[in-house]
Amino acid sequence: MSGAETTDPQLESWIAVAADSDFPIQNLPYGVFERRGTARIGVAIGTQILDLFESAEAGFFDDVCERELLQAPVLNPLLAAGRSTWLLLRKRISALLRAGGDGRLREGGAERFFCRQDAVAMRVPMEVGDYVDFYSSIEHATNLGKLFRPNAEPLLPNWRWLPVGYHGRSSTIVVDGTAIRRPSGQRNAPADAAPSFGASRRLDIELEVGFVTGPGNGLGEPIAIGDTREHIFGLLLVNDWSARDIQAWEYQPLGPFLGKSFATTISPWIVTLEALEPFRSQGPTQEPSPLPYLRVDEPWAYAISLAIDLQTRQMEERGIAPETISQTTFAGMYWNVAQQLAHATANGAVTRPGDLFASGTISGSGPGSQGSLIELTWNGERPITLTDGESRRFLEDGDEVTLRGWCERSGTRRIGFGCARGRIEPAYAVAAASIQERK
Ligand code: CA
Repeated sequence: MSGAETTDPQLESWIAVAADSDFPIQNLPYGVFERRGTARIGVAIGTQILDLFESAEAGFFDDVCERELLQAPVLNPLLAAGRSTWLLLRKRISALLRAGGDGRLREGGAERFFCRQDAVAMRVPMEVGDYVDFYSSIEHATNLGKLFRPNAEPLLPNWRWLPVGYHGRSSTIVVDGTAIRRPSGQRNAPADAAPSFGASRRLDIELEVGFVTGPGNGLGEPIAIGDTREHIFGLLLVNDWSARDIQAWEYQPLGPFLGKSFATTISPWIVTLEALEPFRSQGPTQEPSPLPYLRVDEPWAYAISLAIDLQTRQMEERGIAPETISQTTFAGMYWNVAQQLAHATANGAVTRPGDLFASGTISGSGPGSQGSLIELTWNGERPITLTDGESRRFLEDGDEVTLRGWCERSGTRRIGFGCARGRIEPAYAVAAASIQERK
């Protein structure tokens, strides 16, 4: 059972969908939105959301799954149900929204089953038990190696053998639009000088794509690489906000800690692997050949176009549109999602429904294709000049960052991820002041 008919480019919905919409009937991503005081699971279609709580209440899915899976305030029960349920559900939703398909939804009344995306608040769609962030772009790892360890080989010896990663902080994962408070912490200083405590001066973006897990594994039972597809529900955009001055001081020898744990923004819609199937592609050649437990025999890269837009407060006040400061693609990632999940569970560690695994910063090799400011401005040495004349080394208070992602290929219908936005707010002054006073 493949569900390939749900991505047929000829399909049209009876709901109006603009040609450049991220959410045609071929996409059908899942999210959680607020309606009538409750959190509900929904599916994006055009500018609308199909309310799965109401649709389940009407009995449209009674032969697909228990209503409880679709009437929960988070996606976790549906994620736990597994791929066969996901496929049946996707086929039914596609049929209900299709022009000339199952007419029950259309006849049931738009008021009850739909609401406008711009009229509701979105939530983090799943309860994230564990969050892992990888480091899987060879261009990014090479650039950061050069910047953080200028006198050494940029790629450490393990990098081509395993997908390097660290455990992040799931409780500070926030959804698109959440304000990002500039973190304070110990900032690095020139050699032989003491660090200082205060607001980060080098706040940065990390453009990433994450995947959300389904059923997961039991303790001590690794997920074989050939089985990873059963455990990956879909992909979304991730901004792993990073305070470079805090990170550079704290990261050795145990890796990132407070320089990244203050906030991680995700896009609200999870695009399923079924919707992404037409956009699978061969990843880069891996040399040396991975160890057997990391070998794949099918294409596991995804041709997802990505962009970072920046709008400063001054640009906003002058009515200047956000400016694209980076464009890249997910297709060139060295380590793929199947390898990441197989590696993360190879020691028997547990993955549960709703866990988030992010790719690591996605950077290309050409100019303007890097997924972080530290790379785009080469550690601040080459500031970016914006159209209104301002320049940026790192993020300033009032800056709004928007990540966007979409897939386009001839013979397919374009689909998109929506966006992951965050505006920088000033550091928490009271906490810093009270610490200063005690000196
Ligand atoms: Ca990261």
